[in-house]
Amino acid sequence: MVSAIILAAGKGSRMNSDTAKQFMEINGKPLLYYSLRVFDASIVDEIILVTRGSDIDYVRTEIVERYGFQKVRRIVAGGKERFNSVSKGLKACDKRNKIIMIHDAARPCVTNRMILDSISGARRFKACTVAMPVKDTIKIVDENGFGVETPDRRTLYQLQTPQTFERGVLEEAYDRLRLSGDTDITDDTMILERYMDIQSKMIEGSYENIKVTTPEDIKIAEAYLS
Ligand code: C5P
Repeated sequence: MVSAIILAAGKGSRMNSDTAKQFMEINGKPLLYYSLRVFDASIVDEIILVTRGSDIDYVRTEIVERYGFQKVRRIVAGGKERFNSVSKGLKACDKRNKIIMIHDAARPCVTNRMILDSISGARRFKACTVAMPVKDTIKIVDENGFGVETPDRRTLYQLQTPQTFERGVLEEAYDRLRLSGDTDITDDTMILERYMDIQSKMIEGSYENIKVTTPEDIKIAEAYLS
């Protein structure tokens, strides 16, 4: 049995808009609608939706009820950083579910194929993430903006979501993270690596599975979703 945590509690500050990113419209529907549509129609057993506390009522009536999503079991308030939001979502998942998927609502182009492959990946490898090989050369730079090292591009992947885990290892990793007090966390595979020494398997995503972050991304997502 599978729980999916969908994260929509960010501030979207890089969007330069008064409307919170997760509610900005793409082809006439809010950004959050698209991830919910794919997960709701998938084999996941429940969706835990994480939003800002002040948005919970709006999301329930204007998105979950309005579009008739059936699998949203709980809507919970997120935290300051993304990993705080995941931690709150994790506590709200049905304890019987052994596979936990974590997905950014900011990625509206997720597909059912990615969900199925991720669940198989987590069953087989304990931890997996949807990802794609990088196309550009990546440079490590110093504090003055000079390139100091060029990692071999063939070893580099850009991570996407869903990221999917066996429940036990994910919970243990979060317990250890809480004890450590670390805050420099950008995704969940990093937590598994650092505190559990567990490597995540890369599952093929798509170059279309973009994270809507800045205003031009809205136009790109509109093109992919139409
Ligand atoms: O800011 P970032 O690009 O890392 O956000 C990725 C996803 O995590 C977004 O869907 C955003 O809504 C969510 N998030 C969250 N709680 C936070 C920060 C981000 O749910 N405190």
